[in-house]
Amino acid sequence: MYISNMTHFLDEAGNIPKQMPKEARELANFLALVVDETTKESSSPVIYTTIRCFSKKCEGTINSEFLKANNEIHWVCSKCQNEGVISDWHNTKWDNR
Ligand SMILES: [Zn+2]
Repeated sequence: MYISNMTHFLDEAGNIPKQMPKEARELANFLALVVDETTKESSSPVIYTTIRCFSKKCEGTINSEFLKANNEIHWVCSKCQNEGVISDWHNTKWDNR
């Protein structure tokens, strides 16, 4: 379970820093994509994105939903146990609402 605060991955300008370690940067890019796709579809309860799961050898895609209670985004792989929540995504560059 990945519990991620989106702002922890961003620099002062709201960008993903280029000099970030590769793994953290890949995770940051993944989270940004999830926020982007999820906030385009705010009317449906579950969003079926085209984002590929980052687990090795997994060919699943990511499904996501808004958690209304705390305004987090919950994402889960359609094939493996990979899942997480993203907080503090509001007003980032990938917030389409
Ligand atoms: Zn997966």
